[in-house]
Amino acid sequence: MDSLGELVQFAPDTYGVRWQRHLALFIVTSEGVILVDPIGQINPKAPYFVKEAIAQVTPLPVKYVIYSHWGADHGMGGDAFADTATFVGHVNCIERIKATPDPKSPLPTITFNQPMHVDLGGTRIDLYPSNLSKDDEYIVIHHADQKIAMLVDIVQAKSAPYRTLLGEPDKITAHLKWLHDWLDFDTLISGHTGPQWFGTKDDVLEARQYYFDLSDAIEAARQAGHADRSPEMAAAALETMRPKYGAWSRFTVEALAENIEGFLRWNAGEQLR
Ligand SMILES: [Zn+2]
Repeated sequence: MDSLGELVQFAPDTYGVRWQRHLALFIVTSEGVILVDPIGQINPKAPYFVKEAIAQVTPLPVKYVIYSHWGADHGMGGDAFADTATFVGHVNCIERIKATPDPKSPLPTITFNQPMHVDLGGTRIDLYPSNLSKDDEYIVIHHADQKIAMLVDIVQAKSAPYRTLLGEPDKITAHLKWLHDWLDFDTLISGHTGPQWFGTKDDVLEARQYYFDLSDAIEAARQAGHADRSPEMAAAALETMRPKYGAWSRFTVEALAENIEGFLRWNAGEQLR
């Protein structure tokens, strides 16, 4: 028997709603609710499940829906909250949402490309662009009062990066250094629940180190005579990295081959997302 969805509490005013492996976050204030991500792609009814979960906690309406980024899996279905909410996102969300033909995903009307914040009922939520590439729209959502931060997809405890990486490797490692050194948090929520629901500052450092070790493993494979992006390079990098990362989620030769491809193509100036 599997649990498909659930409501969890991270802090007195901060909750998560999971549907399968996606997690929406919401913060309850005295004047309404701030929601991050409607998670309505895999199940178009999931935003209504989120809405009902919110109603179990407070009668107040959702006043803001914040897009953590535009991944359709996290971002679709915000229409469920359009009766009461204003939509907020990085300005680079707009073209990405327009490219997704979905009438149930409102465009953000509050957009930004510099740090900004949302205030509601005396609660302040800070929003920081991640700037992982020139077209990037990922942001960090920071609830400083509760030492909770959310950065979707980029840091998942004990998990290798997704596919061909979600931005330029140098920008990702710089962002993770900033996150670790400068942002005050204990709990980092990734918007996914597998294998863990959240990470810590140590997980940020480990996620950052993966990119450096990936770079070293690629260079070692080159020194051993393996061509860039060849199956031999992936196999060699797997053996180099296995002692440290062998137990990590997504650490397979197929996934590592994608990580390598992404690492090389981002560094060659390609825009992969
Ligand atoms: Zn995701």
